[in-house]
Amino acid sequence: MLKKYNMSYNNKIGWRFDNTYSKLPGSMLTRLAPTPVKAPELVVLNHSLSKMLELDFSSTSDKNLASIFSGNLLPEGSDTIAQAYAGHQFGYFTMLGDGRAILIGEHLSKNNKRFDIQFKGSGKTPYSRNGDGRAALGPMLREYIVSEAMHSLGIPTTRSLAVVKTGENVIRETPLPGAILTRVAASHIRVGTFQYVTATEDEKNLKTLFDYTIDRHYPKIKDSKTPAIDLLKIVMEKQIKLVVDWMRVGFIHGVMNTDNMAISGETIDYGPCAFMDAYDPETVFSSIDHNGRYAYFNQPGITKWNLARFAETLLPLIDKNKDKAIKIVTEIINNFGEIYKKNWLEMMRKKLGLIEKKNNDEKLINDLLSLLHEQKADYTNTFCSLMNEDVQNDKIFNNKEFIDWHQKWKECLAKNNNSTEESLKLMRSVNPIVIPRNHKVEEVLEAANKDDLNPFHDFLKVLEKPYENQIKNNNYQSPAPPSEKKYQTFCGT
Ligand code: AMP
Ligand code: MG
Repeated sequence: MLKKYNMSYNNKIGWRFDNTYSKLPGSMLTRLAPTPVKAPELVVLNHSLSKMLELDFSSTSDKNLASIFSGNLLPEGSDTIAQAYAGHQFGYFTMLGDGRAILIGEHLSKNNKRFDIQFKGSGKTPYSRNGDGRAALGPMLREYIVSEAMHSLGIPTTRSLAVVKTGENVIRETPLPGAILTRVAASHIRVGTFQYVTATEDEKNLKTLFDYTIDRHYPKIKDSKTPAIDLLKIVMEKQIKLVVDWMRVGFIHGVMNTDNMAISGETIDYGPCAFMDAYDPETVFSSIDHNGRYAYFNQPGITKWNLARFAETLLPLIDKNKDKAIKIVTEIINNFGEIYKKNWLEMMRKKLGLIEKKNNDEKLINDLLSLLHEQKADYTNTFCSLMNEDVQNDKIFNNKEFIDWHQKWKECLAKNNNSTEESLKLMRSVNPIVIPRNHKVEEVLEAANKDDLNPFHDFLKVLEKPYENQIKNNNYQSPAPPSEKKYQTFCGT
């Protein structure tokens, strides 16, 4: 039986729920509680995130923490719902929704910043289709690691507040320990949420969702004469910045379906994502991405494709005349390439410490990327080497063509009016020294599955400061040994 904890306990922790999404029209959500679990046990609680949210769990026992973060004990003021949404999955449109997630409410921090608090793996909902509504421990800890790493890398992302084990097994290929992740997000409004209301052909609901989104995320455009056009432009700008950040650190989302693209501009839904080691634009890790739709270098193109799907949902709000509306959004979406390229070039210039814009920068950048590809050089570590970090695997530095390139790069830097220190400082602000390398992620998850959480915590600590050289020659910087078989990630986790 689900219980709510009493108000004085609530106040002690500091929950300030102010739920707005749950008041939206009934067809956009289903009100239901998480399914209680047998024997919850806290695995990890994110203290720095709790602090940021102004939540204080210091006087809460482990037993109660486990009850709270499994949903067995709900906070006063929560209003638990599953959200309806739709989405293009690998290009095909489907009606979806939270099949294994429950939004418990929106928490306000003292400066009135609003955060969705959501359980992932909390039981079946009307949107579960054939799924069991549950999640396994490994993938939830994986989301915890990668989302927190992305946050520390300075990349907009949902975050992870806690993981509990449920004390129940989930059946995948084999029985695995079940777990629930508490996800914190600016919101869970997705491109797919707009697609859902469009598919239900209820223009009133579309306007309601549209107004809600603007109020919640982009109040600045509230009084605009063309708010729908502005929303499309802002979301495009946010998504371009996001994908450029992913390209910067070699992040491959893996499943960029429209239901996994947040209107807030945060990275969302860490499923088969992974970081690229050896530079190859065609890198794909997901076992189900057979055609490389979501490969590293396709990510900007897919972002544009998803934005076009978003634009389609906004047509009725742009102009009553559909042809006119289509013309307007087409023009906006057609600017994607130019804006992306500008942002990408700016980012790559920073990676190389090129402070002043020069005409041959683009060639210099592309020449380097071709060499990295040819030499199968480690993406992260090559930039570390350029910053004079003592890292492994810089055999590319013995390659004749690379030596020539290096010379040209040095000449470009010398032509800048800025000092080498300034260039280096710029490079250090954008080139991570530590990323959650796939083989390390697997290593710590394997230990965690055997109840040893020390490697997990050690890894998280290092990932908190990805731009700092914390431990000389630490083994978190090395790519996987070459003997290791091709890394694969799995969906439906
Ligand atoms: P994802 O690939 O995680 O973005 O999920 C796509 C859709 O499948 C969403 O509607 C999820 O809620 C749903 N889903 C994923 N895993 C499960 C599960 N184990 N049980 C029920 N629904 C699920
Ligand atoms: Mg999803």
